[in-house]
Amino acid sequence: MFQENSLVLLIDKKGRKYLIRLKEGGKFSSHLGIVEHDQMIGKDEGITVYSDMGAQYLALTPTLKDFVTKMPRGAQVIYPKDIGSIIIWADIFQGARVIEAGTGSGALTLYLLRAIGPSGLLISYEKREDFLKKASKNIYDFASQPSNLVLKCKDIYSGIDEDNIDRIVLDLPEPWKIIPHAINSLKNGGIIISLIPTMLQVMTFVDSLRNSKKFYPIEIFETMLRHWNVKGQSVRPEHFMVSHTAFLVSARKIAVDASLFDSSLEHWKTEYIP
Ligand code: SAH
Repeated sequence: MFQENSLVLLIDKKGRKYLIRLKEGGKFSSHLGIVEHDQMIGKDEGITVYSDMGAQYLALTPTLKDFVTKMPRGAQVIYPKDIGSIIIWADIFQGARVIEAGTGSGALTLYLLRAIGPSGLLISYEKREDFLKKASKNIYDFASQPSNLVLKCKDIYSGIDEDNIDRIVLDLPEPWKIIPHAINSLKNGGIIISLIPTMLQVMTFVDSLRNSKKFYPIEIFETMLRHWNVKGQSVRPEHFMVSHTAFLVSARKIAVDASLFDSSLEHWKTEYIP
């Protein structure tokens, strides 16, 4: 049920979306008129509300995807499709101890917090204080003050303070600079994953992982998302799509010499022998 301070997603008949926070006596205004917040307080989501000019809006609780795509951003955006792949390939689980860098606007941070749950711990490094401020505002806006988060204003290239870490999740320009620190702070079997915009950066990162002889298997991939139009007889892909966001590289830290394993076989199927 919507209450004072609830976040609400309003969608007008043309599909335009607005994210608002409810206040008693508050008003939302657009070119379609003014909507009184009191129409929503105490009501269930999925209802429609009206502006004083008679425009109709659908009122829903925003999903985290709605929130991160509407929240104020300082740093480069990370796309939900890539966040989905990160959560799965990094195998983020409830209770995990995770390092993230950089925090940026906090979009990935919010998803990681959700995936590790209250029993997990996320330590997020960001070198720019102004970004960290914006990110913490976004995070606290959606998740109030999460007890499973530590925000750190630090250049992660200079070192990782924590050890016994399950997962390291990176979205910054030179992830190879972290490899020596990651070797010390990751548990054996732990996973490092990096979102990387260009192929030359991917090559440098993968070569550095291999040269360290501490990571195997390594997976390198990208995720493409294509929306479809389904309307009567017109069933076809949308005309436009985001064709490139970033590549993902994931790797597991191991205890033995990784060069003993054939790197060309890293993507082979797993056989399950019960
Ligand atoms: N994933 C973030 C976006 C990250 S953008 C999100 O979902 O919003 C990359 C961020 O990394 C920037 O904010 C940048 O300031 C930060 N960064 C770059 N190099 C860094 C370093 N060495 N240590 C910590 N943060 C760094």
